[in-house]
Amino acid sequence: MAQLSVDGVDFAYPNGHAVFRDFSLHVQAGEFVALLGPSGCGKSTLLNLLSGFQQPQRGSVAINGVAVTPEAPELGYVFQSPQLFPWLNALDNVRFGLRMAKRLGAAEQRERARHYLELVGLGDAAHKLPYQLSGGMQQRVALARTLVMEPTLLLMDEPFAALDAISRSSMNEETLRLWSALGQTVVFITHDIDEAVFLADRVVVLGGAPEGIRSELAIDLPRP
Ligand code: ADP
Ligand code: ADP
Repeated sequence: MAQLSVDGVDFAYPNGHAVFRDFSLHVQAGEFVALLGPSGCGKSTLLNLLSGFQQPQRGSVAINGVAVTPEAPELGYVFQSPQLFPWLNALDNVRFGLRMAKRLGAAEQRERARHYLELVGLGDAAHKLPYQLSGGMQQRVALARTLVMEPTLLLMDEPFAALDAISRSSMNEETLRLWSALGQTVVFITHDIDEAVFLADRVVVLGGAPEGIRSELAIDLPRP
């Protein structure tokens, strides 16, 4: 289980553009948090800080009390676009991270990859190449590819943005089901307030204020 702490963070881009000033956010182990706010308010920047891809000038970002780095074993990311390897079938795309990490033997890697493909409803598509899959299916392969590493902290940047309304709602339910089953801590960006309210325990609204001072409004939601 992973708990996330952002304490007193100042962050400005090298050109001097200040995005966060004395910003704090605490995410409990097992919590599902949606980051909502207008374009340009700093959602992507915050996700980059949470994953250690960007360093704050002041303050700290820690997972289970340890300063975050992009290699932190707890971390898994799902990006806006699936970015699958076009020459690998769905199963080998999902298996890829395990191979690179030299985790498990080949047969167990395949078995685990198949398990996560089934979990996202793509057991039948294991041998299809990405171009043979719809955008929604590719996005699910991308989710399985991240889940197969069994991260305890999952960071997602608008993972459903490219989907049509139907794949979107089925992905949403999928995600909620998976997350309940795995007990992961999840932080995800969305522009969609319905999605935020449907999926999250807590919606964090990043509000713009002048001169890089960022206010945060947290809305706690009852689970359905
Ligand atoms: P989104 O809203 O989809 O996150 P953005 O417009 O915020 O997209 O950013 C798109 C890309 O452009 C990002 O890689 C970001 O780092 C970069 N970018 C955004 N604003 C600036 C800026 N003022 N100066 C330099 N790069 C920027
Ligand atoms: P969001 O994801 O909410 O759309 P971003 O985190 O991408 O917002 O951007 C927050 C602010 O920082 C925006 O004003 C954006 O223009 C600016 N910004 C993003 N990337 C850069 C960059 N590389 N250099 C300078 N400013 C940036």
